[in-house]
Amino acid sequence: MPRSFAPRNIQQILDALKKKFPDAQTELNYSTPFELLVAVILSAQCTDKRVNMVTPALFRRFPDAKSMAESSPGEIFNYIKSVSYPNSKSKNLWGTAKMLHEEFGGQVPSDEKSLIRLPGVGRKTANVIQSVLFEKPALAVDTHVFRVSARIGLTRNAKNPLQAEAQLVKIIPEKEIPLAHHLFILHGRYVCTARNPKCNECLIKNYCDFFKKQINLKQSKNSSHGNKKQKENREKKAREKSKQ
Ligand code: SF4
Repeated sequence: MPRSFAPRNIQQILDALKKKFPDAQTELNYSTPFELLVAVILSAQCTDKRVNMVTPALFRRFPDAKSMAESSPGEIFNYIKSVSYPNSKSKNLWGTAKMLHEEFGGQVPSDEKSLIRLPGVGRKTANVIQSVLFEKPALAVDTHVFRVSARIGLTRNAKNPLQAEAQLVKIIPEKEIPLAHHLFILHGRYVCTARNPKCNECLIKNYCDFFKKQINLKQSKNSSHGNKKQKENREKKAREKSKQ
């Protein structure tokens, strides 16, 4: 898609976000590649906080793909019933563990083609795994990344995460892509929130299209308010003059 604006300031934006979030990384708790994969599958349409509440017991019972593969969706369900969509997620986790155990020697694969064969793993999850575990320049676009990049103006008219991803990987330096994912998520979670973004305390407001639009809107409102006031004053003076 032709861009009508320069992908300017991307490095300044990333540097400012790095200052704000110096330890940016996933907020999901895990200690092995298998645990991260399980946590990311569980995090679809669910908060990291909620996932972190169920994974300690889940990982104690299923420390690896083999133990989970030898279990059943029903047993897995008991450990994850408080996350969203526990029925389908327990089936997906069991199917994924089985495939990892039978086809990948219990290891999490590093390539997208293999990852997206795993039940419950789509492009976004595959990108998270590739970037977090293998530091590949794969950008996972979740709801925060999608919203934040559209507001700033880093994406233009992206209709879905795939379109946003395609636009973002063109402008974010390759070496920054794994970290950019976490920075945008944290920025979206804590500053550029869906409702009432905290623009006044935002370190990247000077680079943000949304912020500039808001300022212009305010200025034009103020100036039309000023014009109205001037007109009222002129009319008042004219009335007073005619009475004299
Ligand atoms: S200025 Fe506001 S809209 Fe723009 S990135 Fe910052 S918080 Fe988000």
